[in-house]
Amino acid sequence: MPLFTPCYIETYKAGLLEERIRQAQLYMESCCLCPRYCRVNRLQGEHGFCRTGQEIRVSGITPHFGEESPISGIRGSGTIFFVMCNLGCVFCQNYDISHLGGGNILSAEELADAMLLLQAKGCHNINFVTPTHVIAGILKALTFAVKKGLRIPLVWNCGGYESPEALALLDGIIDIYMPDFKFWHEEKALRYCYAAGYPQAARNAVKEMHRQTGDLKTDARGIAYRGILIRHLVMPDNAAGTEELVRWLSSELSPDTYINIMDQYRPCFKASQFPEINRKITAKEYADAVEWGKQSGLRID
Ligand code: SF4
Repeated sequence: MPLFTPCYIETYKAGLLEERIRQAQLYMESCCLCPRYCRVNRLQGEHGFCRTGQEIRVSGITPHFGEESPISGIRGSGTIFFVMCNLGCVFCQNYDISHLGGGNILSAEELADAMLLLQAKGCHNINFVTPTHVIAGILKALTFAVKKGLRIPLVWNCGGYESPEALALLDGIIDIYMPDFKFWHEEKALRYCYAAGYPQAARNAVKEMHRQTGDLKTDARGIAYRGILIRHLVMPDNAAGTEELVRWLSSELSPDTYINIMDQYRPCFKASQFPEINRKITAKEYADAVEWGKQSGLRID
């Protein structure tokens, strides 16, 4: 069990979780759960960009040892992979899960049991992967899980395309935010993720996540229990805008921002239709990105 009490325990004890669930359900009637603002009624079976109604569709539940060391720790991170996504990345490495559907539909009680199982296996946290469009179901499951004894922190492992409405629902629920910050330039976000306004939405989102939880904090074993950890994938030809992005993080978020500057880009899914990103990055492109991060003074994974 953690030495630090996750924030959702207090929120639950204060009786606020039920209100969050009610609000999330309301938001789904005219969906504003991400910056696409599809405004569809998901409770009536209408689908927006994420092609998800009110169901909780899961493709995998497992301890994961390949996350950043403060997240995976010694006994793994309890990952729960949700199907579909509110982003449309043409280079998605998990496109079978994020765009092609599949998986299993779980009830809120079953999702709660999955969390408890991961806790029983010794995982340091529950890691919700691509959870943005499923907030309502996750909150509902959390009430069952808390009643049954869930006591480990929750990680929100998302694409960075979060609306203020969604983040307000998560305030006092999520201890560790782990967003991608994919693109600095609007035209790149539109071209490669079909995400209008992504850079500004991501800037707003990480600021709010930081306001809620602060810089990443770890215990004596180096395992995270609160704060924000940002992931940034280096792209060919600096398409992600890494230099401007890390400078902004240092000056506008916090110089102590913990960032994983990732080198594993490879052309997947529809990337072959975009010749300029239809290759891996070079060693120099990655070295430049890390150097910019170091110059900005960020904590680099
Ligand atoms: S979560 Fe986002 S993409 Fe999905 S329906 Fe709501 S606004 Fe649209």
